[in-house]
Amino acid sequence: MTKLVTLTIDGKQVIAEQGTLVVDAAKNAGIDIPVLCYHPKMEPVGMCRMCLVEIGRPLRDRKTGELVLEEDGSPKIQFGRNLETACTTPVSEGMIVNGLSEKVREARKEVLEFLLTSHPLDCPVCDKGGECALQNLTLEYGPVTSRFKFDDKIHFQKHIPLSDLIFLDRERCILCGRCIRFQDEIVGDPVIAFDHRGRSTEVFTNSDPGFDSYWSGNTTDLCPVGALTTADFRFGSRPWELNYTASLSPHSPVGANLSINVRREAKSNGQIVIKRIMPRQNEWVNEIWISDKDRFGYHFYESEERLLKPLVRENGELKETSWENALDKAAQAIKNHREGLLTLVSGRLSNEDLFNAAQITKDVGGKTALYTNMAGGDLVSQVGLPPDSNFKELGAGTTILVIASDLEEEAPIWWLRTKQASERGATLIVANPRPTKLDRYADFTLRYAYGEEAAIVESLMDSQSDAAKAFTQAENAVVIFGSEGTGLESSTVLATACADLLLKTNHVGRPNNGLIGVWQRPNTQGAWDMGFRPVADLAGSIKAANILYIIAADPLGDNPALKQSLQEADFVIVQELFLTETAKLADIVLPAQTLFEREGTFTSGERRVQRFYPAVSPRGETLADFDISSKLGVKLGLDLPGQFPSLVMPRICETFPAYQGITYQKLAQVIKQNPIIGREDLYYGGTSYENKQGLGLQLPLSETNNESTKAPIDLPQKIEVPEGSLLAVPVTRLYDRGQLITKSEILQAHIPEPYLALNPEDAERLNITDGVEVTVSLQEGLILKVSLNETVPVGVALIPRSMGIPINKPIVTTVKLAQAVVT
Ligand code: SF4
Repeated sequence: MTKLVTLTIDGKQVIAEQGTLVVDAAKNAGIDIPVLCYHPKMEPVGMCRMCLVEIGRPLRDRKTGELVLEEDGSPKIQFGRNLETACTTPVSEGMIVNGLSEKVREARKEVLEFLLTSHPLDCPVCDKGGECALQNLTLEYGPVTSRFKFDDKIHFQKHIPLSDLIFLDRERCILCGRCIRFQDEIVGDPVIAFDHRGRSTEVFTNSDPGFDSYWSGNTTDLCPVGALTTADFRFGSRPWELNYTASLSPHSPVGANLSINVRREAKSNGQIVIKRIMPRQNEWVNEIWISDKDRFGYHFYESEERLLKPLVRENGELKETSWENALDKAAQAIKNHREGLLTLVSGRLSNEDLFNAAQITKDVGGKTALYTNMAGGDLVSQVGLPPDSNFKELGAGTTILVIASDLEEEAPIWWLRTKQASERGATLIVANPRPTKLDRYADFTLRYAYGEEAAIVESLMDSQSDAAKAFTQAENAVVIFGSEGTGLESSTVLATACADLLLKTNHVGRPNNGLIGVWQRPNTQGAWDMGFRPVADLAGSIKAANILYIIAADPLGDNPALKQSLQEADFVIVQELFLTETAKLADIVLPAQTLFEREGTFTSGERRVQRFYPAVSPRGETLADFDISSKLGVKLGLDLPGQFPSLVMPRICETFPAYQGITYQKLAQVIKQNPIIGREDLYYGGTSYENKQGLGLQLPLSETNNESTKAPIDLPQKIEVPEGSLLAVPVTRLYDRGQLITKSEILQAHIPEPYLALNPEDAERLNITDGVEVTVSLQEGLILKVSLNETVPVGVALIPRSMGIPINKPIVTTVKLAQAVVT
């Protein structure tokens, strides 16, 4: 059991766990000790001296070790001659900490005076003005005048780019090292460092391209001054002009909590616009970190290409029309075909959207389908993480298996949390056909051929290998399965094998045990929970339907071969943000709102239901997806709640037992989180936002009644690759050519050109070299650039998915390199 100690800080009695640093004990007791280099998520370094305090400890007799007492019987306290740093000193029994004395105030004044000797004092034009720790501390503790000469300040060229996303103003840097330590300690990307010595010391990037990390934006939250700023926000607004709204990541299944900063501005025709995306603290989900994709990939909502009005096909062309007309026509078409309806949705939709769309389909006797190439959402609801699970608690005694996933590319926050669990002592097994960045932290690295994912999982049950022992004998175990190389069929077998492994090793039903699916959309788990399932033969299902209601999916954009099937349908209704390839073929196009314009809930891969809130006004005549379905449902004679998604949630609770008892009010509840991050004292936690709008709720497990978890696993047959061909395997890249990313101009340079990665051995055999363009038999006319990479398994061609190449569908196919064209 953790030992507690009692101490006194600024006259207040404080109880803290042994080992707690004085600065943290004070913070938890509501006492602020100023810091600049210290951050509660990182190891203390005691560099800036801002946290100097007087510390006294009970005096002990050197001979007897007994406490020396005052005349009144209280312990005699001995103060050191020098002040001590509260950020490096752990609490001890009977300690007296004084941060209010004249000596301490004088020390703080001198530390600030010294820091300001080479600070440009450009606060009126500095991006950080209003949320700058140095500015705030100077106003509170700093000197009125300086003994140093203004002309002696060091001058550097202002605002140099560390990358296309992050700018550095070296004059403002106070050399606290927070940014460098974050990159090194927290995310393991030591791509920035200090260079030079003394007053010439500066931060520089040692990677090519510069600041090459998916986490770079977090350093701008940690930087206590305006030295690091984002290319997106710098000179964009002053912090005090901004309002904030709680939101969620539109990109990943992690459910990262965001705070959307908005303001109304003249240059945007008086509209409220998003100025920046910031992390919102949720220690159960993303702590205080977000990936650069979440931070910068939001501009799609303001794209000129957004659909703003309903469209109807007239004389072969899509023309703008009224909602009334579009909905009348759509409803009539559904009435005409009824059970011929196929409703195809994706996990971009909220639970409320999915529920209403499913009700329409059910009412007319139609079919539903989930647009994904991953299986296992039903198993996750049975053997996933139950309530009270938290990655942060995973450490010694836990084994984590990550299989078929390049986790940092697929879900960066889970990559980070798995890495941290490993550093806390969890055993990490990484199983993938090729090395990924997570291998660095793995205790066991298992390699297999694409298509043999499930067999590897099986081997962890049967074999006597050390990895198998580490899993079966672990107190807690988590399995994270992804989509690397798996089509729907393989994914079904893989997910079943993972669930089976957890069940047979008794790692189900207890907190911090269970299965996590690395879905490609933020609410794919919610879609499974709302009853949607992927179909094995999408082309066949489309062909068999008379009328299609496609919401938030672009099957044609991903696979042009579906064109004929789509054209053959009698009627196609598409509900979308943009005029996608699929929407271009539709008879009716219904313009939907982005998540920033509306309310709703997502269910994360960890089965946490969370709310997002409207941050900006809806563009044009767009409506929320659940509202569109509600209006359509009303025209079909259904009573579906629209306008407020909170009215849909009770229906979800009635229908799905796991959601019973969930209300919008409960999802909005918060409790005190540790460490305390807030905007009162930006010096302690940085500029991440405190969570005031809800931590969400983790769902209870559904009953394990799916026979698939008990049936013997039917391992897929080995994929035969004919001589001279390669196995083309889809892999996920963080930045892809999906609609949400391509509309964010700032990320364009980070989206790779569609490519094909090959092992040099294969390249030599095929007589091709790095950088040449090749055609592939996968799709006629498709030209891809070759990238040679020794980590690609021999006989395999890796092709990124969501790049407009028809490999996002659930197949692993062979490709033949055709004529090579030298660029
Ligand atoms: Fe600290 Fe900011 Fe300088 Fe990095 S750039 S060392 S975070 S002041």
